[in-house]
Amino acid sequence: MERKHSTLHIFFFPLMAHGHMIPMIDMAKLFATKDVKVTIITTPLNVPFISKAIEISKTHQSKEINIQTINFPTESGLPEGCEHVDSISSPELRSIFIKKTTKLLQKPFEELLLQQHPNCVVADVFFPWATNSTAKFGIPRLIFHGCSFFSLCANEVMRLHEPYNNTSSDSELFVLPDLPGEIKMTRLQVANFSKNGTEVDKFWEEVRESEATSYGVVVNSFYELEPAYADYYRNVLGRRAWHIGPLSLCNREKEQKAYRGKEASIDEHECLKWLDMKNVNSVVYVCFGSMASFPGSQLGEIAMGLEASKQQFIWVISKGKEDGEEWLPEGFEKRMEGKGLIIRGWAPQTLILEHEAIGAFVTHCGWNSTLEGVSVGVPMITWPLGAEQFYNEKLVTEVLKIGVPVGVKKWGDIEGGGIKWDAIEKAVKMVMIEENAEEMRNKAFELARMAKQALEDGASSHLSLNALIQELDSPLR
Ligand code: UDP
Repeated sequence: MERKHSTLHIFFFPLMAHGHMIPMIDMAKLFATKDVKVTIITTPLNVPFISKAIEISKTHQSKEINIQTINFPTESGLPEGCEHVDSISSPELRSIFIKKTTKLLQKPFEELLLQQHPNCVVADVFFPWATNSTAKFGIPRLIFHGCSFFSLCANEVMRLHEPYNNTSSDSELFVLPDLPGEIKMTRLQVANFSKNGTEVDKFWEEVRESEATSYGVVVNSFYELEPAYADYYRNVLGRRAWHIGPLSLCNREKEQKAYRGKEASIDEHECLKWLDMKNVNSVVYVCFGSMASFPGSQLGEIAMGLEASKQQFIWVISKGKEDGEEWLPEGFEKRMEGKGLIIRGWAPQTLILEHEAIGAFVTHCGWNSTLEGVSVGVPMITWPLGAEQFYNEKLVTEVLKIGVPVGVKKWGDIEGGGIKWDAIEKAVKMVMIEENAEEMRNKAFELARMAKQALEDGASSHLSLNALIQELDSPLR
């Protein structure tokens, strides 16, 4: 029988960005199923994103999930109302948000710790100061990076060994030394690791220090997906880590899957009805996460590539591109009637992905999207843009072998990398219909089975979560 943990109270504090809030809300819900009292910390304008997701889940979960607000700091220079990365379109203001505003949250957060004294804090990697804050009150701090074990390891290996220094050109391949799997990358594919003492360098240095002195790391992954890297992270890099994913799978009801922190721009029933009319594995789902906003030229190439592939599709186009769609090839929407569904804005992604009609996922390789694809057994066409997405591409295409790259060469090109329609057509066909498609699909299917299994009683993620809760609850800690 499982122990009850009614005395534990844990704070969850995500960065105010969908890619961080969505998994952290899921994580809070997961802990709540273990009879832990959970409180999600955020700023006032972000409450609606969270409260609806929690309301929906309340009917299905036992223990309390609370939301506690702290005031959004106004002194960092952001215009009023910019409390979420989504509401900030300019790169300069986003940089202020990450570098300055997040720091100003420290004081009100500490006041809250003083008031409520939780037993543990799970705070986003973007709040490195949270390790010191919690230490003042003797509260353990766990870090949530929102990444795979693979990318956590690759990133650290890159920092420690600087293998990119041994190449003579940006496009020459180098091996990530010591990392299992002979992973090769080019300098173009990795973030700038130069130590120039810039503000960004200092920020990541703070992150590293805060990780070293924190209680440990919670990882949205499952052991069977990347055992060599989970082991490497713990045994070679010496980190204390708990794998508790895939977090998206804690949403078992349709309503929970349809709303995970943002209202969809399409009625989910309409979307599912459209998919119900399609054959198994016959539709490509195209979505680049919550941040990407491609220029018209890149969107036009995607439209042409999808049409040339002759595959049916659901294509999510982020809102900004709504007005003025002269980039769509002439007559495209008319020709695609019944074959292609365009969602302008936000899609109920997990609901779509799990539909049996979905046969492939064109993804920017954000870790949430990648793991959501893995969890439902959908092979991928990888289109990384920045962050740790090029590592995720390697994991999907070379380690797990459940996808093919569309061919983006350069890290940090948020405009999409200038991928041409024929490369898109080729990659889509490779995953949907060509020779190796079935092999990839079978592998993906098997991983999805393991993903679901991992959360079952007595399986890897279930045990890891229980072990963490027991440890936090132990008087000997
Ligand atoms: N998402 C969604 N609908 C969309 C776009 C994104 O539900 O139209 C969700 C997706 O399911 C995932 C998250 O937003 O949970 C995006 O996180 P990810 O790490 O993939 O990428 P990011 O947005 O952080 O770049």
